[in-house]
Amino acid sequence: MQEETKIALAYDKVLAKVKEICLKNKRDFSKVNILVVTKYATKEQIWQLLSKREVFAIGQSQLKDTLEKFSSPELKDFKVKKFFIGHLQTNKAAKVLENFDLICSLDSLHLAEVLNKQAQKQNKTALCLLQLKLTNRQTQGGLNIEEVPAFIKQVKTLYPGIKLKGLMAIAPQGSNEEIRSAFKKAKNIFDCYFTKEDYLSLGMSSDFEIALEEGSNLIRIGSAVFD
Ligand SMILES: *Cc1c(COP(=O)(O)O)cnc(C)c1O
Repeated sequence: MQEETKIALAYDKVLAKVKEICLKNKRDFSKVNILVVTKYATKEQIWQLLSKREVFAIGQSQLKDTLEKFSSPELKDFKVKKFFIGHLQTNKAAKVLENFDLICSLDSLHLAEVLNKQAQKQNKTALCLLQLKLTNRQTQGGLNIEEVPAFIKQVKTLYPGIKLKGLMAIAPQGSNEEIRSAFKKAKNIFDCYFTKEDYLSLGMSSDFEIALEEGSNLIRIGSAVFD
């Protein structure tokens, strides 16, 4: 089978699965978005998808890789929304704000301060998701759930250039029950501070079914489409 067809069909398969899960869980399919994560995909693979299917947005975790891929002749004419999903270093905040539509990984007040300043300079609003940490692993970024209330309050009062649009979290490594229980916690805190118009981004290729069952409305899918 041609590579071209393969990737579009893999995407269709994810869509069909999402529809099926929504039906089973009485969720409105039109309110669930798929962020297609292209960080490991080649330009050619991305082109093969974007030339065949309309996608909600793409997710990238590195600035340099994003600029390289999306300014290339193959991809520069696609007007696809870009969401930043990696750890964001403050020295890259300005460029990321310029080149992305949403930052999914706001995880410190210092970053919020820098983004706020840059947003004012660029005369725009920095749309951000707060990244929640659902594991004890040191290497993983994000705020602990207990830190969320104070963080939201501070961002709202100190940084008018930032608009918080929801939460993103990566599942802990563990059993399905552990993943589900972590997602439930994220959903609870989401419901305290956000509305249905905002994004609760839980779920990747391996756990999006649980994420959708627990209320995610923005799943992030890479390997299920491109591998
Ligand atoms: C890489 C990545 C994904 C996609 O993961 P897959 O397992 O390939 O679907 C989703 N979210 C974040 C934050 C990522 O870094």
